[in-house]
Amino acid sequence: MRIDRFSHLDWQGILSGIAQDVEPHLGQGRVADYIPALAEQDPRAFAMAFTSLRGETYAVGQSDRPFSIQSISKVFTLVLALQLEGEGLWSRVGREPSGTPFNSIVQLEREKGRPRNPFINAGAIAVTDSVVGHCGSASPAQTILSFVRRCAGSDAPAIDERVAASERDYGDRNRALGYFMKSFGVVKNAVPDVLDTYFSQCAIAMSAAELSRAGLFLAGGGNDPRTGEAISDHERVDRVNATMMLCGHYDMSGDFAFRVGLAGKSGVGGGILAVIPEVGCVTVWSPGLNAAGNSLAGTLALEWFSERTGVNLF
Ligand code: GLU
Repeated sequence: MRIDRFSHLDWQGILSGIAQDVEPHLGQGRVADYIPALAEQDPRAFAMAFTSLRGETYAVGQSDRPFSIQSISKVFTLVLALQLEGEGLWSRVGREPSGTPFNSIVQLEREKGRPRNPFINAGAIAVTDSVVGHCGSASPAQTILSFVRRCAGSDAPAIDERVAASERDYGDRNRALGYFMKSFGVVKNAVPDVLDTYFSQCAIAMSAAELSRAGLFLAGGGNDPRTGEAISDHERVDRVNATMMLCGHYDMSGDFAFRVGLAGKSGVGGGILAVIPEVGCVTVWSPGLNAAGNSLAGTLALEWFSERTGVNLF
């Protein structure tokens, strides 16, 4: 296993060094303020966690404090939708970097309502629509939450109802994306149902430590090494990781790949999940965002993690 190549590393020591070095950068950037529930976050908060394929978790900072995972949820919904709908999902959503902001509508018209990738808002809404279409009488939001809990091996992840309500109150741009795609037949279910589910999934809260465990199957070829459970299959997980590498950081995906060299997905709550195939899953949380809406100190911390451990894929 690739993790054996890193057995000499002092993971905890490396994380502690990063936490110390990142200190002067905490509070830089801008906390997401499109909803009050996120605007209240402490701009100096920081957490980092790494769970290895051996199942051990190493963590620093406020790693047990739940935060709003926002767009990181899109990774779990994509895996779930691919499981429910199969590869046909790709006829509704592309897998090319967008080069546009997370909530942009401009490309959609030119490309006939088919979003560039599953990680911009439009693409994630199309993916959520797929889950809604497969849920029958079950609640799609609870189905997504249950899947996230299964990945995490814990019932701790929860929908923060206050954040979900705020998302709904300020969600007109996302609704516009939903109706626009519906007009092209890309979204098939009732837009209010799809958006309600989308807002709830974005409002899932969990800690950096839990998130690093939830993402472990992405590093383990679809298997959770702690339980031996197959959460997805190898080929699918490889493709989700490739999509994350190219599209996981909006119009700064190239910058993240250049600096960190790992597949990663960010959320406007300040979290980032990054996958190191056959090694483990590393997460950070720091709410100050750069111009593209990705955690500023979090990206820096992951850049150092990659440099200091040598886990960069290239
Ligand atoms: N709830 C956010 C939105 O849909 C998610 C954006 C993000 O995390 O990038 O606007």
